[in-house]
Amino acid sequence: MSKLNRRQLIQAAALTPWAWQLGESGLQGSEFAAGLRIATFRFDVTPPIGHSCCGGWIKPVEVVDDTLEALGFVILGLEKPVVVCSVDWTGLLNTAHIQWRETLANAVGTSADQVAVQCVHQHNAPFACLDAQKIVSKHPDLPAIVDTDFFQQCLKRAETAARESLNQAVPLTHVGWGQAEVDKVGANRRVARNEEGRITSMRGSSCRDATLRALPEGTIDPWLKTVAFYSGDRKVACSHYYATHPMSYYADGRVTSDFVGLARKRLQAEQPGCCHLYFTGCAGNVAAGKYNDGTPESRKQLTDRLFRAMQSSDEQLSKTPIRNLHWRTQEMIPEPRGLFDAEALELQIADPKQTTVNRNRPAYTVAWLNRVRQRTPIILSSLCINDLALLHLPAECFIEYQLAAQQIASELTVATAAYGDGGPWYIPTAEEYECGGYEVSVAFCEPSIDRELRRAMKFLLSKP
Ligand SMILES: [Zn+2]
Repeated sequence: MSKLNRRQLIQAAALTPWAWQLGESGLQGSEFAAGLRIATFRFDVTPPIGHSCCGGWIKPVEVVDDTLEALGFVILGLEKPVVVCSVDWTGLLNTAHIQWRETLANAVGTSADQVAVQCVHQHNAPFACLDAQKIVSKHPDLPAIVDTDFFQQCLKRAETAARESLNQAVPLTHVGWGQAEVDKVGANRRVARNEEGRITSMRGSSCRDATLRALPEGTIDPWLKTVAFYSGDRKVACSHYYATHPMSYYADGRVTSDFVGLARKRLQAEQPGCCHLYFTGCAGNVAAGKYNDGTPESRKQLTDRLFRAMQSSDEQLSKTPIRNLHWRTQEMIPEPRGLFDAEALELQIADPKQTTVNRNRPAYTVAWLNRVRQRTPIILSSLCINDLALLHLPAECFIEYQLAAQQIASELTVATAAYGDGGPWYIPTAEEYECGGYEVSVAFCEPSIDRELRRAMKFLLSKP
């Protein structure tokens, strides 16, 4: 295994190194922020009728209940601009994730390592891996994973939206943050265990089993956090963070941004002058099953609960002048799971007697194995502003990583977005591997990823 470490500390372009040191030692916010600007963008990423949902093993798109969006902000006035983008898709993996970041980077004149792209993870949505698509396209009896023409259209929209946003850039002067406890939404889905601690059944996104629903919430992060960006008195953008799988029900061919997207859209309608973004935290083992029976009524309740938390967090924003801001990245090539054999998986994908899920899903595994063989790293990043850290992690991390991030950075408030590059699929903690369960069965990396990830977070969250 090899890992490349890289530290990138970006200073405001207007500042000389001398002024940067002053900034660290108490330069007035307004002076520091003089060169900073912010722009926001949005574009539609709703898949066309007939497009595969979640990799092609659930019902494809039949109808659009509400649209899927990509939303982002660009921070200018640094040596190189920084872009952070949230996408209402199940995932963006490997080459698809790299292309998305490269496109946004080219659009605003920066490099791809200055761009974080995080998915919200709704399931009636594309689960885009161009490499897995290439593999399944060799078998005409398999449904596509992603329509590559549609994907290219989305990149064109990304390019246009991000480039044109620069014309609307305004001075970025202040940052704010707030938080609110979310009531009865997320619960751990790995709570049913035998005496040895092994998982016996999963409490999924929706659950009608009274025994499973009666089990405790388990380990979660109950806080929804909000980070706001201001231009003087004007609130320009708000990023909201909460860790749960975002589905109330799915696999019915009805595209929706689901309860997290519906809550965000409601707040957006109330505050048209501010761009509201939503990020899913480390929700690999967190879902709504304890409080959700999968009915439309439950979706409404979950939407209301999340909306109330967003609203309350938004009302509690405390605002300070920006004194310092930096962006850091860390590259990682985690060790792939030794039990996966690419040749055996290729045979399984080719086997018409297997179910669609047992053919399309291994295409993602093979894509990951190929990627690691090519030594193409995953990029993690953080944007630290004053005492806030926006942390961007890959794939489906377990909630313990988000809780660890906040502990590591005890002097900072950490807002964590997971579901960046989705290549590794689930990222359990090391000790959970032997407990089994669905997540572990589709974790594409060895338990050593736990150590790698914590080491990366330590670096990303250290004080400059
Ligand atoms: Zn998931």
